Amino acid sequence: MSKSLQAIRGMNDILPEQTPLWRYFEGTVARLLDNYGYKQIRMPIVEFTELFKRSIGEVTDIVEKEMYTFEDRNGDSLTLRPEGTAACVRAVLEHGITGGGQVQKLWYIGPMFRHERPQKGRYRQFHQIGLEVFNLDGPDIDAELIIMTWRLWGELGIRDAVKLELNSLGTSESRGRYREALVEYLSAHHDKLDEDSQRRLKTNPLRVLDTKNADTQAVLVDAPKMADYLDDESRAHFEGLKARLDAVGIPYVLNPKLVRGLDYYSKTVFEWVTDKLGAQGTVCAGGRYDGLVEQMGGKPTSGVGFAMGIERLVLMLETLEQIPEEISRQVDVYLCAFGEQAELAGLALAERVRDQLPNLRLQVNAGAGSFKSQFKKADKSGALYALILGDDEMAQQVVGFKPLRGQGEQQSIAWDALAAHLATCVVQG
Ligand code: ATP
Ligand code: MG
Repeated sequence: MSKSLQAIRGMNDILPEQTPLWRYFEGTVARLLDNYGYKQIRMPIVEFTELFKRSIGEVTDIVEKEMYTFEDRNGDSLTLRPEGTAACVRAVLEHGITGGGQVQKLWYIGPMFRHERPQKGRYRQFHQIGLEVFNLDGPDIDAELIIMTWRLWGELGIRDAVKLELNSLGTSESRGRYREALVEYLSAHHDKLDEDSQRRLKTNPLRVLDTKNADTQAVLVDAPKMADYLDDESRAHFEGLKARLDAVGIPYVLNPKLVRGLDYYSKTVFEWVTDKLGAQGTVCAGGRYDGLVEQMGGKPTSGVGFAMGIERLVLMLETLEQIPEEISRQVDVYLCAFGEQAELAGLALAERVRDQLPNLRLQVNAGAGSFKSQFKKADKSGALYALILGDDEMAQQVVGFKPLRGQGEQQSIAWDALAAHLATCVVQG
């Protein structure tokens, strides 16, 4: 017997019973982004490996150990994208759409791939909705990104379950000075650091700040503080952002240890975190990356963005039971027809109704069946109404109209009047 085929660990099917919630979530975000004036961009999911090494940074977790990298038939090293920013920057540069200071407000959606240890809220193929803004360098746009997500949490009914953490990493100059001071301090306490942090001290010292190790955390208590190293420009930017969040009434917590995993951030960094999902608590994360475009070979171009994890947010909606009732019902009306003539008439009638009510969710019974079996299927479909076409109805050119939920007697409706009648009793999305 051959071994049965299975999906790759950490790569999930999203089953039909789950897709309505995904589509509700994705639709809500897409509508919001449209309304704020963002345009969608679609990039390939495979890029040259070099792109990610150059943008994300060689010594980050992602590049060091999480990428799905392979050689294609030409011998090129390719990688399944672990995140969207690199490809988005590559795309805007390649097409010259940020040249001459052109502002771009872009968003994307799709699968990302990281070879991590699969667990609740952490997968090897996962999905993000991400957003990037180019050529706006003030704190007003940083604020807009956060305000937009705040509105999203409100619309989804999960605002009370998330918390905004905020930090500023400063310009690359001020971060450079801070890094020096931090390395000097940590080197003096080298023996008290955990092994991972000792390694990071050499490769990516800011990452030591978000260690989970208690001994290292104790050492960090007296470490130099990033806030003391911010230059005037970074400080003004950060104050500008906070003033705007205050004006809109968005609460935040300053977290001086928030550094984010990737190399390319500068000034603003933020995370929306929750305590409802266990260990995988970050649902949306982002920040400013003013040096990235230049680092990737473009003209100096400011950038700011974020990405949210769809799996984690869908999990939140489920955990907090914020699933709108209307998404669980996918059929409005179910048409049952008995006998061949009725089936033919039913098909034609259904198409006429669909012409007039393009948003009606009308399901026509397939596979014939007895009165009892078709009714069972109509009921199971979740439809509000059944339409019935039998010999009697055919003779009178009417259709039986039967409410399936709640009260109401069956009535007969003339074929010509059916669409108008349905329009009055089914609320169409
Ligand atoms: P984490 O600290 O949880 O590993 P990250 O900093 O690596 O997150 P980002 O690269 O900032 O994550 O990605 C943005 C968002 O994408 C995260 O906040 C999270 O919601 C989601 N995400 C990241 N990695 C995964 C994963 N392996 N599985 C599911 N969602 C993920
Ligand atoms: Mg990660």
